[in-house]
Amino acid sequence: MQARAIVLATGNPGKVREITAALGDLAVEILSLERFADIAPPAETGQTFAANARDKALYYAAATGQWCLAEDSGLVVDALDGAPGVHSARYAADRCPPGADRATVDQANNAKLLEALAGVPTGLRTARFLCHLALAGEGRVLIETFDTVEGLIAEAPRGRGGFGYDPVFVIPSLGRTTAELSPQQKNALSHRGKAVRHLARLLASFLSQRS
Ligand code: IMP
Repeated sequence: MQARAIVLATGNPGKVREITAALGDLAVEILSLERFADIAPPAETGQTFAANARDKALYYAAATGQWCLAEDSGLVVDALDGAPGVHSARYAADRCPPGADRATVDQANNAKLLEALAGVPTGLRTARFLCHLALAGEGRVLIETFDTVEGLIAEAPRGRGGFGYDPVFVIPSLGRTTAELSPQQKNALSHRGKAVRHLARLLASFLSQRS
């Protein structure tokens, strides 16, 4: 069977690694957005992860003429009324110079989050990562799915793995942050790992119905 080409609509290398690994067994050829460098990124204006994922998938599918898989994900912290939420990537934009690299932005986001939670006791530091995935092609959303992982925000960053808020996101049953897990351990329990496995099952059945 010929592999189905799918453009992965994210420039975040952490996400590319995690999603590509999880789709490894399917008859799909993942195309990087780098091949379509002349396409301007869309503005992310949705109020929900679902809306942002759908909008990005439809935008890049139309712009590239290929099926396109987009994801929107982020961190929801209960004590902050759901912040940073859909603004997770840009939470500390007010503290970063324009064009700051990912490591600088991640560090600033984590510092701002820990400051916002200063004095909040462990039991009230509950949070979750959410990941919404949308696959678009032929002018519509073909498949979508999502998942979450529950955790607690640490008092200080720990670990060097992962990306983004991983150093401050503790998995209570393990007593470790997701930055202290191996990529395989994180993938087994993460919002993105679980959502991509749902997508892989849905996509396998979708492709088999069309062959
Ligand atoms: P997006 O690229 O606009 O979807 O931004 C999502 C942001 O949420 C990322 O830049 C991270 O800050 C955060 N995020 C999403 N998934 C993860 C994860 O698996 N670990 C740590 N941070 C994450």
